[in-house]
Amino acid sequence: MDNRDYYSDHKYCQSCQKYVSYLMSMDHSYCIECGERVKLFSEQDWVNFNDTLTRQKPKGGRPRKQRGKESA
Ligand SMILES: [Zn+2]
Repeated sequence: MDNRDYYSDHKYCQSCQKYVSYLMSMDHSYCIECGERVKLFSEQDWVNFNDTLTRQKPKGGRPRKQRGKESA
C-alpha cells in the first residue's frame, strides 16, 4: 500500500463520485475528468473527520464535588 499521499493529490468530485486528480485555480480546484469543482473530502469523509475531532475532545465537565458524609 503506497497511497500515503493520495489525499493530497486527489480531491473528491461529487459528479464523478470519487477522488480524482484536479486542477488548481485561484480559489477552487476542478476535476480533470469532468470539470466540476472538487472538494477536499467527500461529504461522508468530512462527517467522519468532524466526528473524530468531536470525539477526541476531552470531556470538559465540571469535576464532581465529593460529598462528605453528612452528620445529622
Ligand atoms: Zn469529476
